Amino acid sequence: MVTEVPLYRDRPEPPADPTAVDGWLSQVPPVGKRELRRGFPKALVREHQDLSAAMRSDQVTLLATSGTTADRLQVIWEWSWWDPQEREAMRLNARIARTMARTDYREAVLTTPACGAGTCHFGTQTAAERSIDGILFFNESADPTHWTGAECERMLHEWCEFAPRGVEADPAYLAIIARAALASGMRLPSPDFITLTYETTTRAMRRDIARAFDAPVFQLYGATEAGVLFMECEHGLLHPNERHGHVDLVPLPGRGRLARVLVTTLGRAWMPLLRYDIGDVVRAAESRNCPCGLVSDGPLLERIEGRQSDCMTVEGEAVTPLMLDDAIHAALGPEATLEQWQLAGDSLLVVDPASGTSAAAAAEAVGTLLARPLRGERVAAIAPEASGKYRLVKR
Ligand SMILES: [Zn+2]
Repeated sequence: MVTEVPLYRDRPEPPADPTAVDGWLSQVPPVGKRELRRGFPKALVREHQDLSAAMRSDQVTLLATSGTTADRLQVIWEWSWWDPQEREAMRLNARIARTMARTDYREAVLTTPACGAGTCHFGTQTAAERSIDGILFFNESADPTHWTGAECERMLHEWCEFAPRGVEADPAYLAIIARAALASGMRLPSPDFITLTYETTTRAMRRDIARAFDAPVFQLYGATEAGVLFMECEHGLLHPNERHGHVDLVPLPGRGRLARVLVTTLGRAWMPLLRYDIGDVVRAAESRNCPCGLVSDGPLLERIEGRQSDCMTVEGEAVTPLMLDDAIHAALGPEATLEQWQLAGDSLLVVDPASGTSAAAAAEAVGTLLARPLRGERVAAIAPEASGKYRLVKR
C-alpha cells in the first residue's frame, strides 16, 4: 500500500522485520472518511491498476455507501473481494457455519433496497427479480416507517413461502416486520440464525425480534468501504475477521473500555485501507478469551456502541448511544413497550403506542446520564434519514 497507493505514499516505509510491524503500524497516521472522499478514486488506485478497464469488464463497480450525507462515501466495490470475506466472517460463528454447510441453505436479506450487497431493488419487482445467487431481498421501498399494510403482508408471505435458513437484516427493519407478524398473529417459519447489521441495534428492536422469531440473533459488524470486521459468536462476543483485516482499537478517555476502530484491510486489490477510522465506537471485552474456543490475535468486543459523532462526553467519560438505550430500559423496566427513541437536541422522542408515560420517564433517565434537562415527547413515528437508516442521536 505504501509504495503503490498515492494516499499512503508519504507514510513511513514498513519494516522488513515482522516483529516490528505492530510498532510501525501504531505510528502510521489514521485516515478517515474525509481523506477517502478527497482523493476518490485516484488516490486509492494502485499504480499498476486501470480502474476504467476494471469497470468495463465488471470486475469492480463504483457505489455509494448509505450513510447520512456527512458520512456518505464512494467505494470501489469488488464482488470477488466482498463475498468471500463476508462468508468467512459469518463462518466464525459455529452455528452459522453448520447452517451454511447444509445443501438446503437459503438466505434472505431485509435492509434498505439501496444497500443490499451493492444492488438496488427500488420499485415493484417479483420475488424472482429480487433474488440474486439464491438470496432473496425482501424490501423494495426506502422508508419502512411508511410501509403499508399490503407491503408488510407481501413480505410476511414471501418469508413464509421462502422459509429462509439464514436472514441478514437491518435491526430497525426486522423489528418492524416482527411487530407486523405479532400483530397479525401470523407464525413465520424461524430461520436457523439471524444476523443484524447496517445500524445500531437497540434493546427494543432485539426484544421484538426475539418475540417474533425463535432464532438466535447475532451481530455482524462491518462497513461497505471496509468489509466485515467482527462477527458475534454463540457466546455473545464479537470476534475479528482477521484474515481480511487487522483492527487496532484506540481507547477513548474514561473507564468504560470504549474505543475507536482503525482497520487495515488485508489482501484487498482495490481500495485498500491503511489505519482507516470507521467512525464508530465499540466496547472491548473484559477478557481476551472466549468460551466458544475461537482464538483471535485481534481484539474481542462486547458490543458496538454506535457512531462516534453521536457520542457525548460527560465529566470526562464518553456516553454512547447504547448507553442512553441502557438508561432508558433501566428506567422503564422489563415490561417496557417502547419501540423506538431518538435524542433530537433537547427532546427525547419516543414511539410507544402502548404507554403514555414512558416518554417522560425515558427523558428523565437520559437527562440524568447527560447531566442536562431533556423534554420527553411521545410521537407517532420517527422518520429515517434519506439513506433509509434511523439515527439515535440528532443534534
Ligand atoms: Zn466466541
